[in-house]
Amino acid sequence: SLSGKRALVTGSTSGIGVAIARALAGEGAEVVISGFGEADEIAALCDELKATHVNADLLTQEGCEKLMADAGAVDILVNNAGMQFVSPIEDFPTAKWEAIIALNLTAAFHTTRLAVPYMKKAGWGRIINTASAHSKTASPFKSAYNASKHGIDGFTKTIALELAQTGVTANCISPGYVWTPLIEGQIPDTMKARGLSEEEVINDVLLAKQPTKKFVQPAEIGALAVFLCREEAGNVTGANWSIDGGWTAE
Ligand code: NAD
Repeated sequence: SLSGKRALVTGSTSGIGVAIARALAGEGAEVVISGFGEADEIAALCDELKATHVNADLLTQEGCEKLMADAGAVDILVNNAGMQFVSPIEDFPTAKWEAIIALNLTAAFHTTRLAVPYMKKAGWGRIINTASAHSKTASPFKSAYNASKHGIDGFTKTIALELAQTGVTANCISPGYVWTPLIEGQIPDTMKARGLSEEEVINDVLLAKQPTKKFVQPAEIGALAVFLCREEAGNVTGANWSIDGGWTAE
Protein backbone atom coordinates (compact mmCIF):
# COMPACT_ATOMS: atom_id res chain seq x y z
CA SER A 1 0.00 0.00 0.00
CA LEU A 2 1.10 3.57 -0.62
CA SER A 3 -0.86 5.04 2.26
CA GLY A 4 1.08 7.77 4.02
CA LYS A 5 2.86 8.62 0.75
CA ARG A 6 2.25 11.89 -1.05
CA ALA A 7 2.50 11.84 -4.85
CA LEU A 8 2.66 14.64 -7.40
CA VAL A 9 1.78 13.68 -10.98
CA THR A 10 2.35 16.38 -13.60
CA GLY A 11 0.07 16.47 -16.63
CA SER A 12 -2.59 14.54 -14.72
CA THR A 13 -5.66 16.31 -16.05
CA SER A 14 -5.63 14.18 -19.20
CA GLY A 15 -4.57 10.88 -20.71
CA ILE A 16 -1.77 8.87 -19.12
CA GLY A 17 -1.33 11.22 -16.17
CA VAL A 18 -4.91 10.70 -15.00
CA ALA A 19 -4.41 6.95 -15.13
CA ILE A 20 -1.19 7.16 -13.09
CA ALA A 21 -2.84 9.47 -10.53
CA ARG A 22 -5.83 7.11 -10.32
CA ALA A 23 -3.62 4.06 -9.82
CA LEU A 24 -1.54 5.73 -7.08
CA ALA A 25 -4.68 7.00 -5.34
CA GLY A 26 -6.11 3.48 -5.59
CA GLU A 27 -3.14 2.26 -3.53
CA GLY A 28 -3.86 4.85 -0.87
CA ALA A 29 -1.40 7.59 -1.84
CA GLU A 30 -2.41 11.19 -1.27
CA VAL A 31 -2.28 12.63 -4.77
CA VAL A 32 -1.61 16.11 -6.07
CA ILE A 33 -2.68 16.54 -9.68
CA SER A 34 -1.60 19.28 -12.08
CA GLY A 35 -2.24 20.34 -15.63
CA PHE A 36 -4.74 22.38 -17.60
CA GLY A 37 -8.40 21.73 -18.28
CA GLU A 38 -12.00 22.69 -17.60
CA ALA A 39 -12.48 23.75 -13.97
CA ASP A 40 -15.51 21.47 -13.44
CA GLU A 41 -13.69 18.44 -14.89
CA ILE A 42 -10.67 19.09 -12.68
CA ALA A 43 -12.94 19.47 -9.64
CA ALA A 44 -14.67 16.16 -10.46
CA LEU A 45 -11.30 14.43 -10.76
CA CYS A 46 -10.16 15.88 -7.42
CA ASP A 47 -13.39 14.58 -5.85
CA GLU A 48 -12.93 11.12 -7.35
CA LEU A 49 -9.28 10.79 -6.27
CA LYS A 50 -9.55 12.81 -3.05
CA ALA A 51 -6.78 14.82 -4.64
CA THR A 52 -5.78 18.46 -4.71
CA HIS A 53 -4.96 20.34 -7.91
CA VAL A 54 -2.07 22.75 -8.41
CA ASN A 55 -2.20 25.14 -11.31
CA ALA A 56 1.16 25.86 -12.95
CA ASP A 57 2.59 26.34 -16.42
CA LEU A 58 5.60 24.04 -16.67
CA LEU A 59 6.97 25.77 -19.77
CA THR A 60 8.80 28.19 -17.47
CA GLN A 61 11.19 27.83 -14.55
CA GLU A 62 8.90 30.09 -12.49
CA GLY A 63 5.95 27.81 -13.23
CA CYS A 64 7.91 24.73 -12.15
CA GLU A 65 8.97 26.47 -8.95
CA LYS A 66 5.37 27.51 -8.24
CA LEU A 67 4.22 23.92 -8.79
CA MET A 68 6.72 22.54 -6.30
CA ALA A 69 6.05 25.28 -3.72
CA ASP A 70 2.27 24.76 -3.93
CA ALA A 71 2.49 20.96 -3.98
CA GLY A 72 4.69 20.82 -0.88
CA ALA A 73 7.01 17.93 -0.04
CA VAL A 74 6.29 14.78 -2.03
CA ASP A 75 7.49 11.18 -1.66
CA ILE A 76 6.60 10.27 -5.25
CA LEU A 77 7.22 12.56 -8.21
CA VAL A 78 5.87 11.59 -11.61
CA ASN A 79 7.10 13.85 -14.41
CA ASN A 80 4.50 13.10 -17.04
CA ALA A 81 3.39 16.38 -18.66
CA GLY A 82 4.46 16.43 -22.27
CA MET A 83 3.64 17.66 -25.73
CA GLN A 84 4.28 16.60 -29.31
CA PHE A 85 4.65 18.38 -32.65
CA VAL A 86 5.02 16.70 -36.03
CA SER A 87 6.85 18.47 -38.86
CA PRO A 88 9.72 17.97 -41.30
CA ILE A 89 12.91 19.48 -39.86
CA GLU A 90 13.23 22.28 -42.41
CA ASP A 91 9.78 23.63 -41.48
CA PHE A 92 9.93 22.82 -37.77
CA PRO A 93 8.75 25.95 -35.92
CA THR A 94 11.58 27.04 -33.63
CA ALA A 95 9.13 28.06 -30.89
CA LYS A 96 7.76 24.50 -30.90
CA TRP A 97 11.26 23.11 -30.46
CA GLU A 98 11.82 25.41 -27.45
CA ALA A 99 8.46 24.53 -25.90
CA ILE A 100 8.84 20.77 -26.30
CA ILE A 101 12.34 20.75 -24.78
CA ALA A 102 11.08 23.02 -21.95
CA LEU A 103 8.04 20.89 -21.06
CA ASN A 104 9.25 17.36 -21.82
CA LEU A 105 12.80 17.74 -20.47
CA THR A 106 13.65 20.95 -18.60
CA ALA A 107 10.51 20.87 -16.40
CA ALA A 108 11.59 17.46 -15.07
CA PHE A 109 15.01 18.91 -14.22
CA HIS A 110 13.37 21.69 -12.18
CA THR A 111 10.80 19.53 -10.38
CA THR A 112 13.39 16.86 -9.61
CA ARG A 113 16.02 19.23 -8.22
CA LEU A 114 13.33 20.74 -5.98
CA ALA A 115 11.85 17.40 -4.87
CA VAL A 116 15.09 15.56 -4.08
CA PRO A 117 16.14 17.32 -0.83
CA TYR A 118 12.99 16.15 1.00
CA MET A 119 13.22 12.62 -0.44
CA LYS A 120 16.86 12.32 0.67
CA LYS A 121 15.96 13.53 4.15
CA ALA A 122 13.09 11.03 4.31
CA GLY A 123 15.40 8.25 3.10
CA TRP A 124 12.75 7.19 0.57
CA GLY A 125 11.53 8.50 -2.73
CA ARG A 126 10.32 7.54 -6.16
CA ILE A 127 10.92 9.56 -9.31
CA ILE A 128 9.12 8.25 -12.37
CA ASN A 129 9.46 9.96 -15.72
CA THR A 130 7.06 9.24 -18.55
CA ALA A 131 9.47 8.94 -21.46
CA SER A 132 8.37 7.11 -24.63
CA ALA A 133 9.36 4.42 -27.09
CA HIS A 134 10.84 7.52 -28.73
CA SER A 135 13.39 7.67 -25.87
CA LYS A 136 14.96 4.50 -27.35
CA THR A 137 14.24 4.71 -31.04
CA ALA A 138 13.15 7.37 -33.53
CA SER A 139 10.62 7.94 -36.24
CA PRO A 140 10.69 10.85 -38.69
CA PHE A 141 9.13 14.32 -38.25
CA LYS A 142 9.36 14.31 -34.43
CA SER A 143 12.82 15.83 -33.98
CA ALA A 144 12.06 17.90 -30.87
CA TYR A 145 10.00 15.19 -29.17
CA ASN A 146 12.52 12.44 -29.82
CA ALA A 147 15.40 14.64 -28.65
CA SER A 148 13.48 15.50 -25.46
CA LYS A 149 12.64 11.86 -24.76
CA HIS A 150 16.16 10.59 -25.41
CA GLY A 151 17.23 13.42 -23.09
CA ILE A 152 14.91 12.39 -20.24
CA ASP A 153 16.33 8.86 -20.46
CA GLY A 154 19.86 10.19 -19.89
CA PHE A 155 18.67 12.54 -17.16
CA THR A 156 16.88 9.72 -15.34
CA LYS A 157 19.92 7.41 -15.42
CA THR A 158 22.10 10.21 -14.04
CA ILE A 159 19.72 10.97 -11.17
CA ALA A 160 19.44 7.25 -10.39
CA LEU A 161 23.23 7.04 -9.99
CA GLU A 162 23.42 10.17 -7.86
CA LEU A 163 20.68 8.90 -5.54
CA ALA A 164 21.61 5.23 -5.57
CA GLN A 165 22.44 5.05 -1.86
CA THR A 166 19.65 7.29 -0.57
CA GLY A 167 16.52 5.13 -0.84
CA VAL A 168 15.34 7.22 -3.77
CA THR A 169 14.89 5.53 -7.15
CA ALA A 170 14.51 7.12 -10.58
CA ASN A 171 13.09 5.29 -13.59
CA CYS A 172 11.47 5.94 -16.94
CA ILE A 173 8.29 4.38 -18.23
CA SER A 174 8.31 4.26 -22.02
CA PRO A 175 4.92 3.71 -23.60
CA GLY A 176 4.33 2.96 -27.22
CA TYR A 177 1.14 4.43 -28.68
CA VAL A 178 -1.58 5.11 -26.12
CA TRP A 179 -4.87 6.54 -27.36
CA THR A 180 -4.97 9.98 -25.68
CA PRO A 181 -5.54 13.58 -26.87
CA LEU A 182 -1.77 13.81 -27.54
CA ILE A 183 -2.02 11.09 -30.18
CA GLU A 184 -5.31 12.32 -31.64
CA GLY A 185 -3.74 15.77 -32.02
CA GLN A 186 -0.85 14.55 -34.17
CA ILE A 187 -2.97 12.63 -36.66
CA PRO A 188 -3.85 15.60 -38.94
CA ASP A 189 -0.20 16.74 -39.13
CA THR A 190 1.01 13.20 -39.76
CA MET A 191 -1.58 12.90 -42.55
CA LYS A 192 -0.12 16.08 -44.04
CA ALA A 193 3.56 15.21 -43.50
CA ARG A 194 3.16 11.75 -45.03
CA GLY A 195 0.27 12.34 -47.44
CA LEU A 196 -1.95 9.67 -45.87
CA SER A 197 -5.57 9.28 -44.78
CA GLU A 198 -6.53 9.11 -41.10
CA GLU A 199 -7.08 5.36 -41.28
CA GLU A 200 -3.70 4.88 -42.95
CA VAL A 201 -2.01 6.92 -40.23
CA ILE A 202 -3.60 4.79 -37.49
CA ASN A 203 -2.92 1.42 -39.12
CA ASP A 204 0.17 1.97 -41.27
CA VAL A 205 2.07 4.49 -39.11
CA LEU A 206 0.96 4.11 -35.48
CA LEU A 207 -0.09 0.48 -35.05
CA ALA A 208 2.45 -0.63 -37.65
CA LYS A 209 5.04 0.01 -34.93
CA GLN A 210 3.35 -2.25 -32.38
CA PRO A 211 3.56 -5.99 -32.99
CA THR A 212 0.53 -6.49 -30.71
CA LYS A 213 -1.52 -4.25 -33.10
CA LYS A 214 -3.16 -2.71 -30.06
CA PHE A 215 -2.91 0.67 -28.40
CA VAL A 216 -1.44 0.54 -24.88
CA GLN A 217 -4.10 1.25 -22.23
CA PRO A 218 -3.50 4.14 -19.79
CA ALA A 219 -4.42 1.89 -16.83
CA GLU A 220 -1.59 -0.48 -17.78
CA ILE A 221 0.84 2.38 -17.36
CA GLY A 222 -0.73 3.22 -13.99
CA ALA A 223 -0.12 -0.34 -12.83
CA LEU A 224 3.55 -0.15 -13.83
CA ALA A 225 3.94 3.13 -11.94
CA VAL A 226 2.45 1.49 -8.83
CA PHE A 227 4.94 -1.36 -9.12
CA LEU A 228 7.86 1.07 -9.30
CA CYS A 229 6.63 2.66 -6.06
CA ARG A 230 6.54 -0.60 -4.12
CA GLU A 231 9.18 -1.58 -1.57
CA GLU A 232 10.01 -4.60 -3.78
CA ALA A 233 11.12 -2.20 -6.51
CA GLY A 234 13.75 -0.59 -4.28
CA ASN A 235 16.53 -2.04 -6.41
CA VAL A 236 14.92 -1.00 -9.67
CA THR A 237 16.62 2.27 -10.53
CA GLY A 238 18.03 3.88 -13.66
CA ALA A 239 15.83 1.62 -15.76
CA ASN A 240 13.74 2.53 -18.77
CA TRP A 241 10.65 0.33 -18.82
CA SER A 242 9.07 -0.30 -22.18
CA ILE A 243 5.32 -0.82 -22.33
CA ASP A 244 4.98 -0.69 -26.07
CA GLY A 245 3.43 -3.90 -27.39
CA GLY A 246 6.85 -5.10 -28.56
CA TRP A 247 7.75 -2.00 -30.61
CA THR A 248 11.33 -1.60 -29.35
CA ALA A 249 11.99 -5.35 -29.44
CA GLU A 250 12.13 -5.21 -33.23
P1 NAD B 1 -2.20 14.49 -23.01
O1 NAD B 1 -2.08 15.54 -24.05
O2 NAD B 1 -3.44 13.68 -22.90
O3 NAD B 1 -1.91 15.15 -21.56
C1 NAD B 1 -0.87 16.08 -21.38
C2 NAD B 1 -0.98 16.65 -19.98
O4 NAD B 1 0.08 17.65 -19.83
C3 NAD B 1 -2.28 17.37 -19.70
O5 NAD B 1 -2.65 17.18 -18.34
C4 NAD B 1 -1.91 18.84 -19.93
O6 NAD B 1 -2.74 19.77 -19.24
C5 NAD B 1 -0.49 18.87 -19.39
N1 NAD B 1 0.25 19.99 -19.93
C6 NAD B 1 0.38 20.34 -21.25
N2 NAD B 1 1.09 21.48 -21.35
C7 NAD B 1 1.42 21.85 -20.08
C8 NAD B 1 2.14 22.96 -19.53
N3 NAD B 1 2.66 23.91 -20.31
N4 NAD B 1 2.26 23.03 -18.19
C9 NAD B 1 1.72 22.07 -17.39
N5 NAD B 1 1.04 21.01 -17.85
C10 NAD B 1 0.89 20.91 -19.18
O7 NAD B 1 -0.93 13.56 -23.22
P2 NAD B 1 -0.63 12.01 -22.88
O8 NAD B 1 -0.73 11.26 -24.14
O9 NAD B 1 -1.37 11.57 -21.68
O10 NAD B 1 0.93 12.11 -22.57
C11 NAD B 1 1.46 12.11 -21.26
C12 NAD B 1 2.94 11.79 -21.34
O11 NAD B 1 3.10 10.52 -21.96
C13 NAD B 1 3.75 12.77 -22.21
O12 NAD B 1 5.02 12.99 -21.61
C14 NAD B 1 3.89 12.03 -23.52
O13 NAD B 1 5.02 12.43 -24.24
C15 NAD B 1 4.03 10.61 -23.03
N6 NAD B 1 3.73 9.58 -24.02
C16 NAD B 1 2.50 9.51 -24.60
C17 NAD B 1 2.26 8.51 -25.54
C18 NAD B 1 0.92 8.36 -26.21
O14 NAD B 1 0.84 7.52 -27.11
N7 NAD B 1 -0.12 9.07 -25.82
C19 NAD B 1 3.27 7.62 -25.88
C20 NAD B 1 4.51 7.73 -25.27
C21 NAD B 1 4.72 8.72 -24.34
